[in-house]
Amino acid sequence: MAKGMDCLKCGGALERGYVADKAHYSVPDTQKWVEGAPEHSFWSGLKMKDREVIPVMTYRCERCGFLESYALPQTP
Ligand SMILES: [Zn+2]
Repeated sequence: MAKGMDCLKCGGALERGYVADKAHYSVPDTQKWVEGAPEHSFWSGLKMKDREVIPVMTYRCERCGFLESYALPQTP
């Protein structure tokens, strides 16, 4: 699905990438989609145990800068 995608806003070409997050110890990581509502934990920031976690990939329009994100389960 990654090939030949067009921007929803202007029809420009979409370039694949990801949005970097500063997660643990300020180490850059990819943004993640986590199922359910966010629950804060004193020890780990946000509780992610027993949740489905999917890395988010984001396409950027080369023309207008619009970002379109997808959280697709990784294929083994
Ligand atoms: Zn665009």
